Amino acid sequence: MKRLITIVILILINGMAGAAPAMPQSKAVKINERVYALLGPMGQPSVHNQGYMVNSTVIIGEQGVILIDSGASDEVGKHLANAIRKLTTKPVTHVINTHHHGDHVLGNIVFGQAEIISSEICRDMVNKTGDEWVALMESLIGHKLPNTRPIPASVTFAGENSRVERTIQGVKLVFWVPKGSHTVGDMMVYMPDDKILVGGDILVNRTIPVMRDASVKNWAETLEQVQAFDASTIVPGHGPLMQLQDVSRLQRQMAAFYAGIEAGYKKGLSDSETRKTLDVREWKKLEGFDANIGSNVSRTYLEIEQSSF
Ligand SMILES: [Zn+2]
Repeated sequence: MKRLITIVILILINGMAGAAPAMPQSKAVKINERVYALLGPMGQPSVHNQGYMVNSTVIIGEQGVILIDSGASDEVGKHLANAIRKLTTKPVTHVINTHHHGDHVLGNIVFGQAEIISSEICRDMVNKTGDEWVALMESLIGHKLPNTRPIPASVTFAGENSRVERTIQGVKLVFWVPKGSHTVGDMMVYMPDDKILVGGDILVNRTIPVMRDASVKNWAETLEQVQAFDASTIVPGHGPLMQLQDVSRLQRQMAAFYAGIEAGYKKGLSDSETRKTLDVREWKKLEGFDANIGSNVSRTYLEIEQSSF
């Protein structure tokens, strides 16, 4: 018996030694009396951050809370729920997903009572790719996520190029589904009374835009349209809060990137030859440059190649 207890204790100690590091805290930034940004740490999902690296927006309405983007797992979702509890005792009644990538939707499962809202295409993409995203997250953070399941939206807004205005919990919201930019089915949320725009990953700050699933030409056009909003605060999908001038800088960079690759293609250069001709000094300052610049060039090159047929 004594031996058994010793063995059990040894197993427990071993288990603790292998335990994952604690999830980093979010940074709550109060934008106005009813809207907070919960800024996640920068970087890719990893063992170190336990998959927590997304920005979320918390809108405290009349009876309940609207949460925009729910995190990369049930664990991140719970982490966000705890952070929300520090801001209000009201329950989360609505969750909005800006796009289908796992870091933005896999926390939905924690908010089972809430209405989940996204674009139609985003809902379809969650159904199609959700399980792959869970597996990818597990491999990036180094442990299984037995309680994470993709939960698609129950309420959706129409297809591309639509704007729908709704008042939810007494808060006026404009749901804007632009032409697929960062992903197909992107959706942004504008609060006209608060002058706040929530951009999902169409808008990222101090971190390189990830183009793996993107349509780069649309993205540059969407960034132009963003500037027509009278937004005084912009919550990006990743990185610190932005202003409209940051959007105009991102727009210029994106358009120049596309034009540079298009020029290479037209000269008959391959994608790797084209890459050498690009001026990437501005991109190089951004988080995630090394991990993404190659696939960003390839993706854009492929897009241009396909559109020329
Ligand atoms: Zn993201």
